[in-house]
Amino acid sequence: MALPGGIKHVEELPVEGKRVFVRVDFNVPLDKKTKQITDDARITATLPTIQHLIDRGARIVLGSHLGRPEGQAKPEFSLEPVAARLAELLKVDVALADEPVGDGARKVVSDLRDGQIAMLENLRFDPGEEANDETFARTLASYCDIYVNDAFGTAHRAHASTSGMVKFVGEKGAGYVMAKEIDFLSRLLGEVDRPYVAVLGGAKVSDKIEVLDALLERVNGVVIGGAMANTFLEAQGKNLGKSKVERDKLANARNFLRKASEKKVTVHLPTDVIVATSLDDGEGSKPVSVDAIPAESMALDIGPATAEAFKKVISLARTVFWNGPMGVFEKPKFAAGTLAVARALADNKLALTVVGGGDSAAAIAQAGLADKVSHVSTGGGASLEFVQGLDLPGIAALRP
Ligand code: ADP
Ligand code: MG
Repeated sequence: MALPGGIKHVEELPVEGKRVFVRVDFNVPLDKKTKQITDDARITATLPTIQHLIDRGARIVLGSHLGRPEGQAKPEFSLEPVAARLAELLKVDVALADEPVGDGARKVVSDLRDGQIAMLENLRFDPGEEANDETFARTLASYCDIYVNDAFGTAHRAHASTSGMVKFVGEKGAGYVMAKEIDFLSRLLGEVDRPYVAVLGGAKVSDKIEVLDALLERVNGVVIGGAMANTFLEAQGKNLGKSKVERDKLANARNFLRKASEKKVTVHLPTDVIVATSLDDGEGSKPVSVDAIPAESMALDIGPATAEAFKKVISLARTVFWNGPMGVFEKPKFAAGTLAVARALADNKLALTVVGGGDSAAAIAQAGLADKVSHVSTGGGASLEFVQGLDLPGIAALRP
């Protein structure tokens, strides 16, 4: 598979008998009390890359961060449970070094034989990782002959293991996860089939204003739901009651609507919403027009008329990027709008359909539709930066 920018796929790298450092994203959620892994999706996602390297007889050195130990060796952030789970999944031994770099790490790496796996301890135990310190980067680079990045979720960070070390390694390339992300997300930046519609929602305008602005240059239509829509509706003079609104972003919202109309990009906002007086309001959750939101109520989902209208726009699109749920989808009473959008993407077989964002990915998985869209990105912040057209340090480092 040829990747944009001349980036090599791991399958193209001469890894036989070589020491291959793989930057993986093993930042898995752990149960606070038991320290058990609650979701191992990030480990299973990288198995194809690791299995490929085992099959080719590479000497594999895995590097990852876990949580925010902030430059200190904090045992609660040890990769030990991750190494154990990986060993279980692959049915091979995984030798965990007791530090990210140092004599112990060097020994674990130099003891490797072809097809064996070593894992460095949490890279963020060393302040050099996040500081992208050159000495730390050179030390990591000294552990390998070939560098592979399979951690798309951290590609927007210029850290030692995602960026700094790469220039000190001879050969480099993308693992299967990274390659698929680059392949699908870069299609959104090129010549796309039109109409191209961006569906945006979620918690805040402030998180996504740069994405909104950048997408305006590329799309034909923007669909806005979720709490983000509240700010736009208030900017249009509607009364949102007790809904979540970012009052300091009203000017940004107005500015966006003006630019969109200049560029002839259609912006679709909710015409009805599901309101309730609290998240646990048993009575509430009824649809009202956006012109008649009761003063004591909050808009917590798009309404049925809006869901129908959004579904129609999505069904007519030939390229769709979706980020951000349409409502408080974590609560079944306020999940209908998000499910309707998820289903509309899944049903549109003619379009390239891409989902990005942690909560959006969770929502489409919850709907059981993750395998019915073209691509669900594993990166939250990274996918948003990518679709904005920004050059991610972790991807830039892989180019020749
Ligand atoms: P993503 O992770 O996909 O980028 P965000 O983090 O921006 O999405 O937003 C997800 C959050 O937004 C969810 O926790 C959801 O409950 C919240 N949300 C969506 N709509 C509303 C709303 N109308 N009022 C309050 N919160 C909302
Ligand atoms: Mg989120």
